Amino acid sequence: MPINARLLTLAREARELSQTTLAERAGLSQALLSRFENGLREPSDEQLAALASHLNYPASLFQQPDEPVPLPLTFHRKRAKLSKTAQDRIHAQMNFAVMHVERLLRSVELDTDLELRPADPEEFGSAANIARSLRAFWQVPHGPVGDLAALAERAGVVVIVTDIGTDDLSGFSVWKHGGRPLVLVNARKPADHQRHTLAHELGHIVMHHRALVSEATDIEKQADEFAAEFLMPEADIRPQLEGRIDLAKLAALKPVWRVSIASLLMRAGTLGLVSTRYRTYLWMMLGRSGYRQREPQELDFPPERPHLLRDLFEYHVKELGYSEQEIGALLHHEPNEIRAFYFNTPTAGLRMVT
Ligand SMILES: [Zn+2]
Repeated sequence: MPINARLLTLAREARELSQTTLAERAGLSQALLSRFENGLREPSDEQLAALASHLNYPASLFQQPDEPVPLPLTFHRKRAKLSKTAQDRIHAQMNFAVMHVERLLRSVELDTDLELRPADPEEFGSAANIARSLRAFWQVPHGPVGDLAALAERAGVVVIVTDIGTDDLSGFSVWKHGGRPLVLVNARKPADHQRHTLAHELGHIVMHHRALVSEATDIEKQADEFAAEFLMPEADIRPQLEGRIDLAKLAALKPVWRVSIASLLMRAGTLGLVSTRYRTYLWMMLGRSGYRQREPQELDFPPERPHLLRDLFEYHVKELGYSEQEIGALLHHEPNEIRAFYFNTPTAGLRMVT
């Protein structure tokens, strides 16, 4: 049975292994492994078993027909020092997550009461207009958004908050044709940062994943503008930001709006409520206190806990009676790894779901 060569490449990238290293470990030449990955040669059963065992994936993974999704349009707040191998690993993990969600959704009908309606900023005039109209369309009450992850999930967006093994990336999203959009959010970041990432990616999902985006479009700027208006609608936040602005005032607003002090300051600037000069001064003050790296812990609020994926697993375990091994077989992944990735509990007991 022929293998899906692209999944072999993804599996290798998920382990951050070079062709040379993997080939050596599996007792093959790199020349041969390269041909396997390019679909020019088929591995024998023994060769495939050796590769699977050194990659720590079940060999059945490589027989899956899934077409991997390409790299996302952009990675959110990617630092230059994020290595290519780490980026490829995270991309590969996200591809496996897409495969997992597809398989988990075979037996479950998603109950989405909000519609995800793609919108073009050109047509709407601005990204902020889209955020405003999406809030109205979803009937989000005025003021701060309480549970952003819950909103996204009600629209069928799968949100994965997980430790992605590096601080150098905040998150990203993919939306495979015919499937559900997935957002990956780095659990290493504080809650305000995670919410911004999710709002930003929601903007990409609505505005960019289904549209032909021209090179000239600054999609990052649009996604940030969407996030700002979605989390802090001008009409609601303007009265609260008016008057004298200082760090104490922004710090008091942070837990209310569940956004960072930095976001509030930026918002005040965009809305013309602080002069550029004074904003620069406050920005400098933030930097001097170290708050641009990490805002004061005493203002932290708990991160959001998306539950759609948890529910999907739970349904399989509780309603369909799947064992952990069967879930592993369904997803072509080791149960330990599934637990670590989705539930951040690599060594927990048998129970995958709490
Ligand atoms: Zn982005």
